[in-house]
Amino acid sequence: MKKLIGLSLFLLLAAGRAYGFACIRDGSGDCVRWVQSGATLRSFLGAPPGLLANGTPSWDQNAIDVAGDWNRVGAVFHFTVNVASQNQFVNPCGTGQGHACPNSGPPGDNPIFFAQSQCGIDFGDIVELVNVCYTGTGAILNTPVFVNNNVPWNAYDGQLVGGVNDMRRVLLHEFGHVVGLAHPDKNGQNVVAIMNSHESDIDRLQADDINGLLSLYPSGAPATTGCQLGAAPGGSMHGWPLLIPVALAFLRSTVNRKFPRQAQPPQHRRETSGLDVLGGPRRSVRYG
Ligand SMILES: [Zn+2]
Repeated sequence: MKKLIGLSLFLLLAAGRAYGFACIRDGSGDCVRWVQSGATLRSFLGAPPGLLANGTPSWDQNAIDVAGDWNRVGAVFHFTVNVASQNQFVNPCGTGQGHACPNSGPPGDNPIFFAQSQCGIDFGDIVELVNVCYTGTGAILNTPVFVNNNVPWNAYDGQLVGGVNDMRRVLLHEFGHVVGLAHPDKNGQNVVAIMNSHESDIDRLQADDINGLLSLYPSGAPATTGCQLGAAPGGSMHGWPLLIPVALAFLRSTVNRKFPRQAQPPQHRRETSGLDVLGGPRRSVRYG
């Protein structure tokens, strides 16, 4: 039995090294998540005059495209992005009745919008951020995405272009926060991931990001009504590493049954981060 426990600990540690994704945790240390395994976002980003550098006609299209990137992972979680008109906008800033958390707006409302500030606070070197609002039991209530309107934007693939932020990769990162992922590099990990806190030449999901999503929302779980699941990925996405988060979830559920948590008021977490360019001056970017 001791050998078995020792082996289990070794596998857990090994998996921790190999899969460095991190999640946003509630006050009990559990990963926050959408209990309905899906979220509907409304994009108020609109379109610039003319095509963007990656050939897309609008910022909204880039939001739709990155939602597709996450959906194609094959996790039970499913993004829906609707393009909205300005007269439908509900400002998430403020507190009190109608706000799920301070500066998060009504429960279930997840706008993506250009903002001059973080509800009155200067963006500083932050190019984009998500306010992830969740209950005391870790159920995400809403996730407004604030896009810094004071820095230059385009949408392009490949290497970073100095001074111009790529909306596509930044939204891809922010949508990772929307599902409940955090920054691996801010959690002691050294991995290649779009979810690292600084903008880089990485412009698509990496294996670590995919494993992070699947750890929160495993493939093969019951689908939410109306959720179109993509094809499940093959190769390293399956196999024993995925059994570990499942085992941990089982252990947590066992512990939670023995020690039921006290009801807690909703908590507010704001993901913020700046982007550095190696070898260059620090610049403003829209990663949060
Ligand atoms: Zn971030």
